Amino acid sequence: MMKTQPQSEAINVFLEEKRTFEPPASFRRSANIQDPDIYERAARDVESFWARFASELVWMKKWDRVLEWDPPDAKWFVNGKLNVSFNCVDRWAKSEFRNKAAIIWEGEPGEERTLTYEVLYREVNQFASALKKLGVAKGDRVAIYMPMIPETAIAMLACARIGAVHSVVFGGFSAESLADRINDAQAKVLITADGGYRRGSVVPLKRDADAALTKTPSIEHVVVVDRCHSNPPMKDGRDRWWHEVMGDAQKFCAPEPMDSEDLLYILYTSGTTGKPKGVIHTTGGYLTGVYATAKWVFDLKPSDVYWCSADIGWVTGHSYVVYGPLANAATVFMYEGAPNWPENDRFWKLIEKYRVTIFYTAPTAIRAFMKWGTEWPERCDLSSLRLLGTVGEPINPEAWMWYHKYIGREKCPVVDTWWQTETGMILITPLPGIVTTKPGSATKPFPGVEACIMNGQGEKVEVGGGYLAITKPWPAMLRGIYGDRKRYIQEYWSRWDKIYFPADGAKRDEEGYFWLLGRVDDVLNVAGHRIGTMEVESALVDHMSVAEAAVVGKPHEIKGEAIVCFVTLKEGIQRSADLAKQLKEHVANKIGKIVRPEEIIFSAELPKTRSGKIMRRLLKDIALGKVLGDTTTLADPDVVKRLKEQYENTEA
Ligand code: ATP
Ligand code: MG
Repeated sequence: MMKTQPQSEAINVFLEEKRTFEPPASFRRSANIQDPDIYERAARDVESFWARFASELVWMKKWDRVLEWDPPDAKWFVNGKLNVSFNCVDRWAKSEFRNKAAIIWEGEPGEERTLTYEVLYREVNQFASALKKLGVAKGDRVAIYMPMIPETAIAMLACARIGAVHSVVFGGFSAESLADRINDAQAKVLITADGGYRRGSVVPLKRDADAALTKTPSIEHVVVVDRCHSNPPMKDGRDRWWHEVMGDAQKFCAPEPMDSEDLLYILYTSGTTGKPKGVIHTTGGYLTGVYATAKWVFDLKPSDVYWCSADIGWVTGHSYVVYGPLANAATVFMYEGAPNWPENDRFWKLIEKYRVTIFYTAPTAIRAFMKWGTEWPERCDLSSLRLLGTVGEPINPEAWMWYHKYIGREKCPVVDTWWQTETGMILITPLPGIVTTKPGSATKPFPGVEACIMNGQGEKVEVGGGYLAITKPWPAMLRGIYGDRKRYIQEYWSRWDKIYFPADGAKRDEEGYFWLLGRVDDVLNVAGHRIGTMEVESALVDHMSVAEAAVVGKPHEIKGEAIVCFVTLKEGIQRSADLAKQLKEHVANKIGKIVRPEEIIFSAELPKTRSGKIMRRLLKDIALGKVLGDTTTLADPDVVKRLKEQYENTEA
């Protein structure tokens, strides 16, 4: 018989990780924030804490009140007026940083461009004028479907300058997904490029945009950057070249005074769990939140070359390629293409060449690097690096250790940053000069942020597993889902009263550290134990043969659910029944007999979203022999088809 689980336990805890890493003394001594008391001080007066950061920005009119909190609606810096592009560009173009590099870019084929703050100022002004001339006014929505080129950031900043709301759609999305997002936002203008380079070939963005445009009646104009000279068809009266509209535009465009609560952008979530949501972010609170976190989490200094490898089409690109770093006058490095083009060491070569000092990437990338092997980073000079970061998924302790050892050369603090499209800014993270890190833990809420773990009854869990909860409003929090108030309340504000529900499982240890355990929807239920996917996956990745793993539950007569593991091996390792047995044993030894996997499926790849996150929902469909659910947000739909066939054949 299946044991019934104690009602109060939301998620049980199995894995224990004891390694700790203190900030290196030299890092600590020069960190932007060094005083550990900051946590207590911020908690004592949260509003003053955020107001201090807000007052480091330039306001056209100061706010009357810091916060108006009428759950679930927050207003930050009420009645304040400011312009985001002014804060990210004008301010530095008119300072001693005028000739400092704002963006250093390398295209996949190898071209280099450097835009100083002065140059960025010129481009943003001119493109803002061009948008106005095309009839874009304050409040209008503009869709951006671009490769990773400086024009993408310029387009976003130009929208912000005139008060237009941008909706960036990742360039890897299909025509269908682009059309859905354009229609949901009712965008008036689309900004795109003829193409972009990826793995040596041209991704034909304009062709996909054209397919989308047959279904998007709201679009009046399309502006096209001539990135690849691929000569796409241009529709008369609708399509204009970027360089032509720029040539015709005025040199200066006054920054629109925006209310602190005016919309800055709409961004659709990655769609890992279902239909993407059009998350909306506003102006004053958002900029304050990303400015503050970029400054303290990435410890940005004028001399840094900061590289966040996320695409601008994701929230990480919005907050930590564009707005956060530029509000700090940082030098942002940007790369157009794939990490394994022409070879597996492209990223390391870029770090070596540009002397990158801060590198922020995703666990999915780190696991790919692990799979490829250490010889690639080993042949490059990575000594310029001083800080590493990760975001996007829970990082398995072994992946963390690999990153620390082979990329950070054991000298760089690693900041594992937990946040979401909805949160706008990093919420749980180490402060690299203060917090001792533990591999696999995002450590503590950023000062001024309040989080806890709740059990199934909505009671706070001091030590143990449960649901992550954010118990106080924060400045960059989402203000809604575009055009869907009901879903906004339903998804985030109906589990508890006045508390934000992120739908992630987590545990808190004796020292108050947070460990993310995976999505609430993916939690396994084995013999009455609720197990986060992260712990079992980490136990698998802990084995020397394994590069990546995803686990799902499958109904089992006795246990309730049995654990099915999909495992990707490191390059050069052979699959065998014996290895499968070893892996089951390894998990049982590492975290307990109760979690012994029922099945191990070796798989060359795992199904991932276009942002690189594992979609366990689809693996579950495979394990259950069900018809596959929605696969539109998958990077490569064939991966699931192949896996499904493989799975069905091994079972037969
Ligand atoms: P959707 O909400 O449409 O299913 P998504 O949740 O993948 O898509 P994002 O907002 O891009 O969309 O991702 C946020 C999620 O990513 C978090 O809720 C969490 O599950 C995961 N995540 C991000 N950073 C971390 C981290 N450092 N540790 C653990 N999990 C993380
Ligand atoms: Mg989500």
